[in-house]
Amino acid sequence: MKAAVFLLCLGHLPAALADLRFHWEDHFSREDKSKLMSWVSEVHAGVEALVGELPFDVQIYFHRTRAGEPVPWANTERRSYRQGVHFHVDPRFSLKDLREDWTAAHELSHLVFPYLGRSHSWFAEGFASFMQYQVMHDMGIISRQEMLQRYGQKLDRARRSYSHQDRPFAEAAPRLRAERKYPTMYWGGAAYFLQVNQALQRQNKTHMVDVLRQYVACCRRGGGDLEQLIRDLDRVARTTVFSRHLERFRTEAGFPRYQDTLAAAPRKR
Ligand SMILES: [Zn+2]
Repeated sequence: MKAAVFLLCLGHLPAALADLRFHWEDHFSREDKSKLMSWVSEVHAGVEALVGELPFDVQIYFHRTRAGEPVPWANTERRSYRQGVHFHVDPRFSLKDLREDWTAAHELSHLVFPYLGRSHSWFAEGFASFMQYQVMHDMGIISRQEMLQRYGQKLDRARRSYSHQDRPFAEAAPRLRAERKYPTMYWGGAAYFLQVNQALQRQNKTHMVDVLRQYVACCRRGGGDLEQLIRDLDRVARTTVFSRHLERFRTEAGFPRYQDTLAAAPRKR
């Protein structure tokens, strides 16, 4: 909600209340700026509707490009004092096209966790991939059926292209990146969150987004590495589900299980 307020009052709001900061790296028309700010503000509000308010300003950089899709490229900026996203956008696309693109939901979801380092990128990308369709579903952009279909298709494709059956997924992930099999690495990582989400519902009668909400409120500002994050998530959920499943990703060979986890995927809140 704050993001929408910021948009309306741009230029008049005290700096302390502004949680999205827009930076124009190339020339954009007034109309395009308004469209792009609306899009990112909506998605940022969509992420916060699930996990609660992120405890820092988010820097949004817009770069202009020409492409066959609205957002051909984006990446996060992760420094201890500066958290943000660079969006390379083609402003010829409409607000509707931008809303139907998953990139903003994916990139802004990355900011829910601190930067975990290159060696754990399977975990970070898995999380953002798990979140992107959930954010879009919660915002009313895709139905639950569409969300489940997309999870299923991405994971089926990743399983088929996984060529390290003798290795645990966490160990194979750097090789997948070297082979440029990025979607395989992303969606294998997403299976971790689908498994954990299912286990949280069965064993702890709670949901992933509720745990994320508690984590963001208590611990996100503190940063930390992957081990610290897992400890924090287990602690706020009063469980060992996060660490146990991570251990399985590090020790059990083959592409991770996901087929039976989809039914537990979150519903619109
Ligand atoms: Zn990503």
